[in-house]
Amino acid sequence: MPEKVTITDVKVILTQPGNSRLAVVKVMTSEPGLYGLGCATFTQAIFAVQAAVERHIRPFVIGWDVDRIEELWNMMMVHAYWRNGPVMNNAISGIDQALWDIKGKRAGMPLYQLLGGKSREAAYVYVHANGPTPQAVEEQVRAYMEQGFRYIRVQMGGYGGQGDTMVRPDDAPDGAYFDPRAYSRNMLNMIEHVRSAVGPEVELLHDIHERLTPIHAIQFAKDVEQYDLFFLEDALAPEDIAWFRQMRQQTATPIAMGELFNNPHEWRTLISERLIDFIRMHISQMGGITPARNAAIFANLFGIRTAWHGPEDTSPVGHAANLHLDIWAPNFGIQEWYRPSELDYEMFPGLPEVRNGYLYPNEQPGLGIDINEELAAKYPCGDIVETWTQTRLPDGSPTRP
Ligand code: MG
Repeated sequence: MPEKVTITDVKVILTQPGNSRLAVVKVMTSEPGLYGLGCATFTQAIFAVQAAVERHIRPFVIGWDVDRIEELWNMMMVHAYWRNGPVMNNAISGIDQALWDIKGKRAGMPLYQLLGGKSREAAYVYVHANGPTPQAVEEQVRAYMEQGFRYIRVQMGGYGGQGDTMVRPDDAPDGAYFDPRAYSRNMLNMIEHVRSAVGPEVELLHDIHERLTPIHAIQFAKDVEQYDLFFLEDALAPEDIAWFRQMRQQTATPIAMGELFNNPHEWRTLISERLIDFIRMHISQMGGITPARNAAIFANLFGIRTAWHGPEDTSPVGHAANLHLDIWAPNFGIQEWYRPSELDYEMFPGLPEVRNGYLYPNEQPGLGIDINEELAAKYPCGDIVETWTQTRLPDGSPTRP
């Protein structure tokens, strides 16, 4: 029997190379020089995740056999008794991803090999186009097409669109106002414009970001069907997922859902009743690679594809984890991609690269990504009060972001 390799220490590296605060967990082992990295980025509550890892998870996992990922994941998930919340899920993900990284390094294989090997050489990615007018969105779509991107999410005025014609009551408080009815009209106009301008071959996506009432979301999904979206994202809030049954009966617009999900109960029925087409959970938010692998296999049995959440508030380590799942999964659909900065590439050696609309893994063992800790320390996380989440309807009522 080879000697057991155990967890000797755990630390959280917080850094903010761009707009988003990132959390990366580093797991050290009894084998000199052997460590793993995992994404634990819940950017809006980053210091809560740091405390969860350092004060609650770290004492529990020290001394654990690094090989026993499945057992440890299941025990971490119930260790605090109350489970399936975003803070603890992200903390657990940090350890889980790091242990998969370590297992790959010990095996001398990239992570996708441990999952079952390649189903493809690279992953399709989609990128975000956004502008103040339909013409401006079209211009950005064309610019991306020139760079080789074939899947492009189109938004106008961010989430919720623009509300420049809305009438607010006197003394209405500050906030991120939007008008859901104007949003529907403006987005349909924009998507019609872009589709007719760029033709049928480029794949267009749109994210409603749960900004409509359920029945208006169904109306929107029906109205947009003629423009042949690759998928419509977050048409409904997690609280309203029962409405997917009605949406499914009324339109063939492909539906993607899941970035806010924490608990398997949230995706199980959507998959088993074939109410959506793409699962797009945030890997660290669901607890790491272990539950993502399980959800992908479960979805595959029902003909549902993956589209893991991958914006800027996923750390580069989390993007690497996404990509290994993409390269392996028989039911991979598409990968959201955030276009990293030069600083990101400097801070995270091994961060995957896009060529001609495809994201390629490297052949390094494990996740194939590292972190320059000295550089990361030069970009500390600040205290932030989020403003984009302070959403209000025209009359000032608070609503979901
Ligand atoms: Mg989204």
